[in-house]
Amino acid sequence: MALITPRRRFLITAPLALLLPAGLLTYLGLQTVGLVENRHIETIQNEVNKIVQGVRNRTRDQLQHQILTPFRTAFVNHLDELLPTPPEEAYTFTVRDAMPYAKLVFVYGKSGRIYFFEKEQNPDAVSSVWRLSGLPRESLGSRLISAFEAENDTFSIYENPQRIKDFSPVIYPDNLMVQEPQRELAFYMMSGKETLEEPTRQPDWIKAAGFTIDFNYLNTVFFDRIIQQMWQIEGDLRYPILIEDRVTGKSVADVNLMGEPNFKPSSKYTPRPFSDVYFPWYYVNFSAGTGEDIMKVAENEKMVYYCLIAAANVCLVAAVFGALRNIAKELALSDMRSNFVARVSHELRTPLGLIRLFAETMEMDRILDEAKKKEYLHAITKESERLSHLINNILNFSQMESHKKQYNFRWTPIEDVIYDTVDAMHYHFQRHDMNVDLDLSTDLPKIHCDREAIEQALYNILSNAVKYSGDGMSIDVRAYTVNRSVVIEVADQGIGISPEFQKKIFQEFFRVNDPRVQETGGSGLGLAVVKHIVEGHGGKISVKSNPDEGSTFMIQIPIDPQHLDS
Ligand code: ADP
Repeated sequence: MALITPRRRFLITAPLALLLPAGLLTYLGLQTVGLVENRHIETIQNEVNKIVQGVRNRTRDQLQHQILTPFRTAFVNHLDELLPTPPEEAYTFTVRDAMPYAKLVFVYGKSGRIYFFEKEQNPDAVSSVWRLSGLPRESLGSRLISAFEAENDTFSIYENPQRIKDFSPVIYPDNLMVQEPQRELAFYMMSGKETLEEPTRQPDWIKAAGFTIDFNYLNTVFFDRIIQQMWQIEGDLRYPILIEDRVTGKSVADVNLMGEPNFKPSSKYTPRPFSDVYFPWYYVNFSAGTGEDIMKVAENEKMVYYCLIAAANVCLVAAVFGALRNIAKELALSDMRSNFVARVSHELRTPLGLIRLFAETMEMDRILDEAKKKEYLHAITKESERLSHLINNILNFSQMESHKKQYNFRWTPIEDVIYDTVDAMHYHFQRHDMNVDLDLSTDLPKIHCDREAIEQALYNILSNAVKYSGDGMSIDVRAYTVNRSVVIEVADQGIGISPEFQKKIFQEFFRVNDPRVQETGGSGLGLAVVKHIVEGHGGKISVKSNPDEGSTFMIQIPIDPQHLDS
């Protein structure tokens, strides 16, 4: 029942109240970091997609401008000159275009026969000579013928999205994915198709005309030109790429960063096909640096988030620790306060008991011996002095706590203060059979101080020296001047104080956890009051002590604290 006190409950719930939001914050933070990463990965994916799409679009565009339109202009539009009638054996004609992209040209006659022409020579850069081929090329021929016939029946520009302007493609063999060296990509155009810009002049006997692509041209010139243009002129490529022909397994074109001769393939981004019906054999390879810049941004962004999370957590943990420490301090203080009441009551009772005993004995006139009477009266005086010191400590402390303590500064000869205090405690020393050696420097000045307060401080130190030394020990009191200060040292040969407690003893209510201390009466206020008084005079208090060897308390008080202040 009493186990879960409100204080304990607070101790448990306060850290939880702070740690739960810390955990939540961390969780949400890490989720956000994950989102940041995903966003950047998505950006890179988009970038990669854009590259593939860009290459594909550019290839289509260049196919039209570099290959199909020139073919149409140079060949199809001049069929009436080049092939006015169905050709005879070994027939040749010259086209006013080098046509580097074409391996074979063909015409399909209304008779149902297909004629293939091979390039015989390129007499110059602007023309080419073509000779009727002797090879039957039956399978390619029949594949083409079936395409012409099918188109004749069903062709509609809207139904044939693969068509580029007037040309239709034929891929041979049919299976696009086949990876064999025997491949053909042919483009043909049905006869009689006119465009406004270029009226065609075609003889009646021709039904269709076209050509097959020279892959050597594609692989050495065409793609290279495309991606160099995209890289250097258009700036369409953000990262270096390499185009690979999957049939030959060779790189057909690549671009690189300046000063990097070899293309370094990416391990992250696998090669992607063009996904274009005309070029199923070609793949885009990505370079090692692909997306690195974006990743770097992501890394930086992540770093910022991690730092923020860490900072927030450090703050929260610091807050938890701070709160716990304060709570622990408060608890310890409140424990000490409750002990204090018990201790002080005890401290008050002892002198009061003695005073009462002596007074009652005297009241009963039992003591006839004058000397004894005097001794009793003296004891009463001394015990009431002790009482008043104790009460002074308590009052001083309560004034210190409420910041109401005022000092009454006067110029006072310090040796008088020391003599008077030691003298006032004479009875004390005598009772414990203690010897006090005074060693006061002869040039001790007057100091500007509150006499009563300094006496109280000295009394507290001296009475500790008595309390924490055994009977018969001696106490040394020294006083001397250093610079503009007076130092008073009180050295005893008592139980001493271990180093870990030497700072703590100046805290209010603190008493060393040693049976020899605990069995001696005390409030735990004495040194706290001394410290306050000394500091109130602009001075310092310190202690040097070794357990079981004794302690030396030193107070250093400036001669004129107000003068020092200004
Ligand atoms: P108290 O009323 O307990 O003496 P003080 O504030 O005067 O309170 O002293 C705090 C604690 O410091 C004491 O409880 C004791 O443990 C230690 N102390 C003070 N003076 C001495 C000394 N001269 N020798 C050994 N221990 C001392």
